[in-house]
Amino acid sequence: MTELRVPSRILMGPGPSDVDPRVLRVMATPLVGHLDPAFLDVLNEVMALLRQAFQTANRLTLPISGTGSAGMETVLVNLLEPGDRAVVGVNGEFGRRMADIVRRCGAELYAVEAEWGRALDPSAVEDALRKAKNPKLLAVVHAETSTGVLQPIPPLGELARRAGALLVVDCVTSLGGCEVALDAWEVDAAYSGTQKCLSCPPGLAPVSLGTRAEEALLRRKTPVQSWYLDLTMIMNYWGKDRFYHHTAPISMLYALREALRLVEEEGLDRRFCRHRLHSRAVCAGLEAMGLELFVPEPWRLPTLTAVRVPEGADDLRTRRALLDRFGIEIGGGLGPLKGKIWRIGTMGYSCQPRNVILLMAALEAVLREQGLGPPPGAGMSAAAEILADGERTG
Ligand SMILES: *Cc1c(COP(=O)(O)O)cnc(C)c1O
Repeated sequence: MTELRVPSRILMGPGPSDVDPRVLRVMATPLVGHLDPAFLDVLNEVMALLRQAFQTANRLTLPISGTGSAGMETVLVNLLEPGDRAVVGVNGEFGRRMADIVRRCGAELYAVEAEWGRALDPSAVEDALRKAKNPKLLAVVHAETSTGVLQPIPPLGELARRAGALLVVDCVTSLGGCEVALDAWEVDAAYSGTQKCLSCPPGLAPVSLGTRAEEALLRRKTPVQSWYLDLTMIMNYWGKDRFYHHTAPISMLYALREALRLVEEEGLDRRFCRHRLHSRAVCAGLEAMGLELFVPEPWRLPTLTAVRVPEGADDLRTRRALLDRFGIEIGGGLGPLKGKIWRIGTMGYSCQPRNVILLMAALEAVLREQGLGPPPGAGMSAAAEILADGERTG
């Protein structure tokens, strides 16, 4: 077998995103043991940086070994016991996945649905919380990557509190890309993933539990169903006891530390601003090409744009041409949206002017070849104009 060679790509799909070269470099750092005093410093630094990114003082803030779904499963299996009632917002693939895990925990599911491409209606959430009578938790997706919808969290915090439920938020595609303020929003538990807006390879899932969630965990009558994801044991490694539970993925933790350092250096506000600017440029470019955005204005994600596959365009052929000829990856639709939308990520290191401009030019070329007639150069110039505006106003 030959040495591994993969083509060079620009990752503008729903994740993974491109990894900053600085993160790739630290991954080549030689290993130390997972109980080496030098590595224990790394653990503490990662926890401190994660608290900054989540905007929380939560003691129990650490990365779980596994991808974003492991974060989702960790939060739900640790907080839910058989017979508990849980209200879950389902307006996309990841809400569905939470609902599935809730059932597997032996908890009673109260789903609040909304049309895919729309946010949940707080009054429907309120009804479900009432119907569930004393629900243990309310779980929602902040940034629904399958549809491109941003769910406003603050109104839901208030509702959960009044119902005596813990608020659980999926921040996989928002952490490091748009405002996530766990303490200000009174979120009780949240999780994320490293390969979206943090621009780190997939493999870790930052989670954070507040005091109310931690108390609920310590009050459990039954042991956590998952041995590997049991936070009561994991926290004895990350806390001062340093008990061995499982071997920490050392190189991934080096990588996350560097990715979070990049977030800190850029500053949260500037980083959020950069994501908003580039997604606005993508939206403007797509609309100038005559394409229709899937999500109405108030709910558009600043980290991922969903756009309808235009009539007459071949979904697969278009994405394949972008990949083969321009090296650009964008995502297709999931579940009921398969073949209906494209998902364009502008996350982390991928969120750069040159990527947006290249995608506009490439997409225009590929659509024109299929007999569609976006006006030549329209997408590119509309996007460039927004980016130049942002450049001027900072
Ligand atoms: C990607 C994603 C997940 C799952 O993360 P994996 O790393 O693929 O396991 C969960 N929730 C949302 C909103 C996501 O975008």
